[in-house]
Amino acid sequence: MTKAEWAGTERLLPTPCYVVDEALIEENLKILKGVMERTGAKILLAQKAFSMYALYPLIGKYLCGATASGLYEARLCAEEMAEPLKAQGRKVESHIFSPAYKESEFDEILRYCDHIVFNSWKQVEKFGPRAKAAGKSIGLRINPECSTQEGHAIYDPCAAGSRLGVTLEAFGMGLLQTLLQLLDGLHFHTLCEQDSDALEATLDAVEEKFGRYLPGMKWINFGGGHHITRPGYDIHKLERCIKRMQDRYGLTVYLEPGEAVALNAGFLVAEVLETVRNGMDIAILDASAACHMPDVLEMPYRPPLQGSGKPGEKAFTCRLGGPTCLAGDIIGDYSFDRPLGEGDRLIFEDMAIYSMVKNNTFNGMPLPAIVLRGKDGNCRIVKEFGYQDFRGRLS
Ligand SMILES: *Cc1c(COP(=O)(O)O)cnc(C)c1O
Repeated sequence: MTKAEWAGTERLLPTPCYVVDEALIEENLKILKGVMERTGAKILLAQKAFSMYALYPLIGKYLCGATASGLYEARLCAEEMAEPLKAQGRKVESHIFSPAYKESEFDEILRYCDHIVFNSWKQVEKFGPRAKAAGKSIGLRINPECSTQEGHAIYDPCAAGSRLGVTLEAFGMGLLQTLLQLLDGLHFHTLCEQDSDALEATLDAVEEKFGRYLPGMKWINFGGGHHITRPGYDIHKLERCIKRMQDRYGLTVYLEPGEAVALNAGFLVAEVLETVRNGMDIAILDASAACHMPDVLEMPYRPPLQGSGKPGEKAFTCRLGGPTCLAGDIIGDYSFDRPLGEGDRLIFEDMAIYSMVKNNTFNGMPLPAIVLRGKDGNCRIVKEFGYQDFRGRLS
């Protein structure tokens, strides 16, 4: 959606708000469906990146289902994706992975999920027989110890000391035939915003370390972190990777991207509340990096902003910050054709993923409204939040 296509419509929305564009989501879904159709692989939505369930019926129409990080996401998939699609005669798959399951939650998880992925042999021993008896497909997450990303240790499940996935050493130490026989598949998740060359290198490590166990499995799950819908992503190489595991081992291949489903398909609209000066121009917005775009601080990264340039590129450079007390609640430094003033609206891009799922009400900040821009171009406010949403989480 370009600046021209907004044509001032952003002025009619309550701010701050997320605007998710249905046509852009569908473009991503079509790319992912193309991969499934050409290869026979199965692709799931990783809900932790994007849980806008108003779009689950659409997502479930294109993808095979969804994966969850815990009980609540599993229930959301059951109620908002599986239920409405069942009414249309379509069965979607529900998968789950958790580093450790809770006894008090496990029976309910079994009601919602088809695939249960465990993080250690001890978890397989504790919960596997019950899951098997309930007719579930059972997987174990492996750690191929193959880091393909630099710089972001907190997003690298292969970093030293990682708790995510069984290393070859731990696999051998805990291996019992009775437990191995419970397994239907192996799961790895090691990538983050990466291209298929990183997947190829990871598969080399998976085969080298765990190759002897693959012929006994039914499926392999490549996890997420595949930036499939990013322009320039090498889809051919991805499809060769999928075929390689299908042809060599007869496996069903699953992928569970989060980002790729809603990449570049959402916006955060914010308003300038005030401007101040301290050696530079600073604008205070009604959107906060800390509350509404936490990955800007955590990753960290500088979100694209429509109509702006890098500092110094355009005539007026301005720092953009949030309305909280946190000194570091800074979205970034940007430049504009004219100075920013009270009431100006700013449209941040690529704000559908890892944004609303991570929102918080630190400082009593309001949660942004959620707006769906339909295929006809019309915006519909799907949800607005208020004081009760802040108060309701406290006591
Ligand atoms: C985070 C995660 C995903 C999704 O990752 P994206 O980077 O959003 O594609 C998939 N599977 C697992 C196990 C994850 O932890």
